[in-house]
Amino acid sequence: MSMALAHFAAGVSGTLLILLVTGWYKHHLAPHATFVGGFWGVLPDIHHIVSDEYITELIQLVHRHPVADIFFLHYTMDVYDSSNSKWVTFGCLVLMVLLLCAFAYARHRKLSDNPCYLNG
Ligand SMILES: [Zn+2]
Repeated sequence: MSMALAHFAAGVSGTLLILLVTGWYKHHLAPHATFVGGFWGVLPDIHHIVSDEYITELIQLVHRHPVADIFFLHYTMDVYDSSNSKWVTFGCLVLMVLLLCAFAYARHRKLSDNPCYLNG
């Protein structure tokens, strides 16, 4: 079971990859989407903080099933990182920072190419 921070970083990284590959990084909501993607990656672990018994059981059911991989490989990360490794979390954070740099660079180039932006 990976740390929540690793899942968050994987969610942000996955979202950034999708935005960069599809060219949607140009959209004005793209920075917000990365934040939402981070929470999407953590979503199967929400059973740790929800108090309602029925909802907790439902979320745990999804959490223990490979279908949880739609949350940016949540199931796979939990299975292969069963020791809750700090190095896996560190690797996910490094990947996230690198992709954030690529995202910022791509958006800066997009804004610089726009004559309206340069003229104020
Ligand atoms: Zn989990």
